[in-house]
Amino acid sequence: MPRTALIAGNWKMNGLAADLDFFDAIAGPAASSPADVLICPPATLLAAAAARCADTGISVGGQDCHAHEAGAHTGDISAAMLKDAGARYVILGHSERRADHGESDAMIRAKADAVLAAGLIPIICVGETKAEREAGKAQAVVTAQLAGSLPDNPQNMELVIAYEPVWAIGTGLTASVSDVEEMHAAIRAALPEPLTTRILYGGSVKPANAESLLALPDVDGALVGGASLKASDFTSIINAAGR
Ligand code: PEP
Repeated sequence: MPRTALIAGNWKMNGLAADLDFFDAIAGPAASSPADVLICPPATLLAAAAARCADTGISVGGQDCHAHEAGAHTGDISAAMLKDAGARYVILGHSERRADHGESDAMIRAKADAVLAAGLIPIICVGETKAEREAGKAQAVVTAQLAGSLPDNPQNMELVIAYEPVWAIGTGLTASVSDVEEMHAAIRAALPEPLTTRILYGGSVKPANAESLLALPDVDGALVGGASLKASDFTSIINAAGR
């Protein structure tokens, strides 16, 4: 069964209301692309971005959520709140959250359960550090993260995995095509729904390398950080998914 590519932008802690014109700039390329297009803006822009994307086919998503639906968790946002603001997807376990907020696989699993319970699609991020790759442990680390972070009962639930080598995020370095191919095949073999689950590559995806990465058989799209902030770069990556 062919999997529809997903080109997802992660704006991280970037973006103000004045930046919402971005959506008008990518609407045409997104509409004519065979790929699904998603932008995860900061939570402050989610509702406005969702309104801007109405009738464009572009989805919006959250960058994280709390594992509980509501309660005394100052500053946190639940999956139900993200859905209420218009989100369809939620990024979970991004390496910046694992590093900055000490998120463990168990926490990510609990969040994934919450995202699925809210009727949203989790994008679960996994990836090794430079030291782990150099020690020959990349595959063992990533498959262990995956086993620990997958929701309790993922059968028949839509979820997305993003393989993001930590050393490639925001550094301009990209994993080699053969390393990506090997890791994505290992991830696919470890998934409960290997034929339908989309596996994205993330880590300095840009117009110059998008086509070669997206052409790989087990790469079902990209999670894009820096290059998702500039409409012309993100458009080139959307277009690369259609070639
Ligand atoms: C990311 O933040 O998920 C990411 C892959 O960032 P960048 O594309 O900037 O490396």
